[in-house]
Amino acid sequence: MTLTQILFVHTKEHRAVGHFNISNLEMLRAILEAAKEMGSLVMIGTSEGEAEYLGRKQIVALIEAYCEDWGVEAILNADHHKSVEAAKAAIDAGYQSIHIDLSKLPFEENIAGTHAVVEYAHAKDIHISVEGELGVLATDSSKVYEGEIVVRPEDLTGPEQAAEFVERTGVNRFAPAVGNFHGMATHTKKQLDFDRIEATRKILPEEVAIVLHGGSGTSDDQLQEAIKRGVANIHISTELRVAYSSALRKFLADNPEETTPYKMFPSVIHAVRTVVLERVQLFTDTN
Ligand SMILES: [Zn+2]
Repeated sequence: MTLTQILFVHTKEHRAVGHFNISNLEMLRAILEAAKEMGSLVMIGTSEGEAEYLGRKQIVALIEAYCEDWGVEAILNADHHKSVEAAKAAIDAGYQSIHIDLSKLPFEENIAGTHAVVEYAHAKDIHISVEGELGVLATDSSKVYEGEIVVRPEDLTGPEQAAEFVERTGVNRFAPAVGNFHGMATHTKKQLDFDRIEATRKILPEEVAIVLHGGSGTSDDQLQEAIKRGVANIHISTELRVAYSSALRKFLADNPEETTPYKMFPSVIHAVRTVVLERVQLFTDTN
C-alpha cells in the first residue's frame, strides 16, 4: 500500500501513524526496534537540519537497509522542508514523503511553492506523498519551553481556506494549526480545537490525511480525541529528545569511566524506544 492508502485506512478506522524525528543512528534504532516489536508501520522524520547532519542519501540508504534486514516498515519523511529547493533535494535523494512547509509565506506564495513541489514529486513518482501546511503554530522548535505559550485564535487554520489550499496544491497530506504547537511547555497545557479538526476533516477530500504536528506533551485524551475527529498522522519529536538526553546524562554520570560509544547507548535506545512504544500503542488503540 502507498502512504496515501495507509493513511486513508487509518482515518477510516480512527487510528494514526506515528511520525518520529531522528538526528542520529541511536534514535533510528530505537524507533525501528519499537516498530518491529509492535509490528507497526512508522514514519521517520528528518527536518532540514537533521537531514543535513545525517546526509539525505545516507539516511535513505540506511533506512532501506534496516527495513530489509529487520522486516520492518518505515517511511522516511522530509519534515518541515522550508524551501522548494530543499524539498526537491530530498525528492532527488529518494525520500518517499515530503513535508513542504511554506506556512510562513503569504497564502498565494504558499500555494505556488507547495504546488511546485507536488508537481516535481509526482512527476518523479506518483506515489511520493506530499504534505502542505497552512496556519501559524506558536513555536517552531522541538524543545522544552519554560515560559507560557500563547496560541492566538487568529493563527488557527480556517477549514474553508484549508479546502482551497488542498484543492489548488494537490497535496496528499495537510497540516493545520488547530491549537497544537511544537515542543513541550512547562507552563502551558496543550488544548486542541476538536471542532476545528472535525470541520477540516469534513471539508477536505477523504483521501487527504490530516497531520498533527507538535504531538509531544499533549495528553493521551487529547490525542485520542484528535484521532477520533480525523487526525491520521501525529508527529512526536521533543519527547524523544528529552528521553534521549536524560538517559544519556544519567548514563554518563553513573559511568564516568566508560569510553566505548556503543556501550553508552543501550539505556538511551531503551528510553527512546519506550516513548515510541507508548505513543504507537496510543495511536493504534481504536477504542
Ligand atoms: Zn512539525
